[in-house]
Amino acid sequence: MNNPESSTELSADVVVIGGGPAGSAAATMLARKGWQVIVLEREQFPREHVGESLLPASIPILEELGALPAVESAGFLPKHGATMVWGTGSSPWSWYFKETSQRYPHSYQVWRPQFDQILLDNARAAGVTVLEGHQVTNVIFDDGEAVGVEFTNGDGVTGDAQCKFVVDASGQSTLLARHLEGKQWDPFFQNLAVYAYFTDAKPLPEPDQNNIFIESYQHGWLWSIPLHTGRTSVGTVVDSKIGQEGIQRDGAKAFLEAQLAQSSHTKAMLENAKMDSEPTVVRDWSYTSEKLFGPGFILAGDAACFVDPLFSSGVHLALMSGVLAAAYVTTALNDPTMADEAGDVYQELYLKEYNQFREMARLFYSSNLSAESYFWEARRITNSDEYSPRHSFIQAVAGQPPRGYERVVLERGHAPEEFTASIRAVETERRARTEWLTALAGDPQRNQLLSAVPNLAEGVKVEEKPVLAEGEFVRGHVLNTVSQPEGTPCSPIVAAVIAAVDGQKSVSDIVDSLGQHLDQAGHAQLEEAVSRTIEILYVDGAITGLVTE
Ligand SMILES: Cc1cc2nc3c(=O)[nH]c(=O)nc-3n(C[C@H](O)[C@H](O)[C@H](O)COP(=O)(O)OP(=O)(O)OC[C@H]3O[C@@H](n4cnc5c(N)ncnc54)[C@H](O)[C@@H]3O)c2cc1C
Repeated sequence: MNNPESSTELSADVVVIGGGPAGSAAATMLARKGWQVIVLEREQFPREHVGESLLPASIPILEELGALPAVESAGFLPKHGATMVWGTGSSPWSWYFKETSQRYPHSYQVWRPQFDQILLDNARAAGVTVLEGHQVTNVIFDDGEAVGVEFTNGDGVTGDAQCKFVVDASGQSTLLARHLEGKQWDPFFQNLAVYAYFTDAKPLPEPDQNNIFIESYQHGWLWSIPLHTGRTSVGTVVDSKIGQEGIQRDGAKAFLEAQLAQSSHTKAMLENAKMDSEPTVVRDWSYTSEKLFGPGFILAGDAACFVDPLFSSGVHLALMSGVLAAAYVTTALNDPTMADEAGDVYQELYLKEYNQFREMARLFYSSNLSAESYFWEARRITNSDEYSPRHSFIQAVAGQPPRGYERVVLERGHAPEEFTASIRAVETERRARTEWLTALAGDPQRNQLLSAVPNLAEGVKVEEKPVLAEGEFVRGHVLNTVSQPEGTPCSPIVAAVIAAVDGQKSVSDIVDSLGQHLDQAGHAQLEEAVSRTIEILYVDGAITGLVTE
């Protein structure tokens, strides 16, 4: 690589556009794999950014990136859950991450300039060349393949960077998606946000003082996020058109103040507080890009898709997709024959995660009955909608028992009946199966299980597909079920058991067929492994018919 500091003709294996969470994550993982990586970032860090409230799902990713110690010691407030005024009543209620994950019961409320700086420094420490004040103006294509980018640096000097791969992590600028004309706006979430920082806001009562507070009101909803700097981030999400009209008429500050005045709890929390920043207006329209990857390029984070911030999912999706995008690039560079297949898997994995948050947000918007107005009516799910609660539920919880948000919709909101019935059915089925297996635990010989004849549930099959392993995609097995048609990676034993289940063989027969050449000890071990696998598949609903009359 030529000297990046002085030259406007750069080259690297990979150019990453944007140094936000998605770009930093992708760059770090790529550098770890030995690629020469340049991040071109338009701003000088630390730069301001909306989106301070993180999810626990990001903690293992930060750990993988090697950034967790720095995040943990940055002084950010630990966030244990959310407090909301939403649903059928007007009193605040709280839910906690520990209700659904003992392993990751908290995340953080971060000051984004500091958090994003930590991630970018972490990329530098991994060997990435980071050039701040460098705005990418164009992606260079040669015969349909991305081969570099053009940029303008802080001195107004233009240059280009040649590379084998471009990762677009340009956030809501969506540089490539706009260039490719593949941006698809979501008709359901066309909102606008106005936010500012306040000092001396009254915290929520203990133990919820570090929670994000979300209050729905007549024309939308408000967030309050306490920060370790002593400030509180407060913003409103309103209908885009109505927000634009109001801001044009009154100005952003008066508009935000007018929204706060309509709230009840947020207003009380800000009674003695002072707005100490100019309000910022951000477009909050959800979108996806038609194609998340192509020859020589991949889109990560908000550059690929953006979902309504109700569940604070943006940074998580950015980090996750950054790590996955890096794995895709490594795969495509090492084994171009696998590029398309691995790209499809990247797109499936990202959109699956994205859609879970989207469907849950949709249910939440629709189930809020605490206010009557155009905002809420327009976001109500109706029978004439293409929306199927059953389908959404399956997408949202992907066959798993309710994980938290959906439980809250059930308890606090006015969820569509079909959704409620589906959740109850899944729960009841799982409980019955688990109880049956618990009863079996008293049978040390597993005789009842061994004599049972398993069947595959409808739509269950094992496929060979690229799966994620050690920072790249490798060929592996995935288990397809009705609720997870794109498949989840499975071990060779699961693949072998599924292949052996034919509705004729008992569990014992399956063990025999798989362990023909094993000695007695090996056979006993296999019997244990197959029995355990069958039990898990049974509880998950992939296998039926175990109970013998
Ligand atoms: C109202 C609102 C509230 C939100 N609240 C939350 C929340 O509480 N929690 C949460 O997790 N998420 C939240 N989000 C979402 C979150 O802000 C984003 O999802 C997240 O920042 C995405 O990370 P990213 O790396 O993809 O993009 P970004 O963080 O936007 O980073 C993109 C980077 O690319 C740079 N860039 C852009 N164009 C160019 C170019 N041409 N050349 C070079 N560099 C360029 C930008 O300067 C920027 O640094 C919220 C979003 C909104 C709109």
